[in-house]
Amino acid sequence: MNGDTPALHLDGIPPDTLRKVQPYLEPFQLSQAKLLEVSARLNKDMVLGLGKTTHHRAAVKMLPTFVRATPDGTEKGDFLALDLGGTNFRVLHVRVVEEEQKVLKMDSQICAIPKEIMLGTGEQLFDHIAACLGDFLVSQNLKGQTLPLGFTFSFPCEQKEIDKSILIRWTKGFNCSGVEGKDVVKLLKEAIHRRGDYDIGSVAMVNDTVGTMMSCGYKDQSCEIGMIIGTGTNACYMEEMRNVKRVEGEDGRMCINTEWGGFGDDGSLKDIQTEFDVVVDKTSINPGVHIFEKMISGMYLGEIVRLLLVRLAKDKLLFKGRTSEALRTPYTFETKFISEIEDLVNTLRILTDLGLEWESVDCAIVRLVCDTISSRSADLCAAALATITNRIRTNRGLSHLKTTVGVDGTVYRKHPKFSEKLRATVRRLAPECDITFLVSEDGSGKGAAMVTAVALRLARQSRL
Ligand code: BGC
Ligand code: MG
Repeated sequence: MNGDTPALHLDGIPPDTLRKVQPYLEPFQLSQAKLLEVSARLNKDMVLGLGKTTHHRAAVKMLPTFVRATPDGTEKGDFLALDLGGTNFRVLHVRVVEEEQKVLKMDSQICAIPKEIMLGTGEQLFDHIAACLGDFLVSQNLKGQTLPLGFTFSFPCEQKEIDKSILIRWTKGFNCSGVEGKDVVKLLKEAIHRRGDYDIGSVAMVNDTVGTMMSCGYKDQSCEIGMIIGTGTNACYMEEMRNVKRVEGEDGRMCINTEWGGFGDDGSLKDIQTEFDVVVDKTSINPGVHIFEKMISGMYLGEIVRLLLVRLAKDKLLFKGRTSEALRTPYTFETKFISEIEDLVNTLRILTDLGLEWESVDCAIVRLVCDTISSRSADLCAAALATITNRIRTNRGLSHLKTTVGVDGTVYRKHPKFSEKLRATVRRLAPECDITFLVSEDGSGKGAAMVTAVALRLARQSRL
């Protein structure tokens, strides 16, 4: 363990028990050397993803976003925003005020997406989205207007232009038929036209990482990385056009959506995948896809913990060898429990609610397991972030880089020790980079409006 990182929960575990539990946890505790190796491997994969002839088959997709400029402060107007692919589906009305350089969220509404729709047809999904937007416009008295719309669609898309975006594949529990390979903007517009009771203006497609970067870029000009650690995980950053071989042009920069969640999909992370990671992947609705994400993000962390607890109980190291119906049921150990369990009172409640009979040593072991799994997640994110900051640094021929990362996501925001752990590890892995972390204020809402506003400004300027 490292002196500069927060201590794990070891109190309350007799040394003899700890010695028996430790071998189950070791595969999750990655050494500094291993993390550096993972980081170097990711850099190689990023180069493949940017390549002209290699990007088609690359595990790390490095998708061009067609975002070349950050806000210049002359943007203004009213916008709608949709946010799909995080914890909630939301519809928003956002106003960008030029004089005050402010992005105001006028109002927003959360709409539930029922499981049947997440796994239904694409037509059902987009009809549902169009209905939510319609209800929102009525409630806001905006139905007669034709406002531009920023669509935060947090899935890997091959973007052809700012308003043409082909879904490569679903992730994070979505699996609607007939959408992969299709232009999402077209599907949205068709659903709105099927209703025929309102219309929208021009559309900008935005990955949540890009919205996050842009919403922070309004405040801090050196924000050139956006990172999400929530239901899923991903990051984007400003890459030199000369390195983006898959897009024409050598000058300036473009924001690249790395889709780092797909790292390992070609088998390159086999050495760090534990048997529990293999089970999580195999039993997911998209086996073999987003291997890195499945070791890191909120959708899966609780399930990794659950599998470990079941194994420890089976091997008589927890709960006197007994489990419960709830603990044996996939996905009943929610990722939010991992954050809550930092507090002992919560631990007792959660274990009781799961129908488990515990003694104090069991609580201590459960907390140690949770800590180990969230720490590995933070370490892996840190390795990936170090790869990006080191790339930006060497791109610019600098010995030292000062930069800002816009961050969002439930895991990063809600876990009491996650961000601290992440920062400590990046400092060790990329000592030449001085990184400021800015938690984004609603990147998926305000950031999407900002991307739309910048796109409209550029379009207006090119017509003049
Ligand atoms: C998606 C990304 C997204 C990330 C965070 C991943 O599953 O592929 O596009 O940015 O989740 O929401
Ligand atoms: Mg180029």
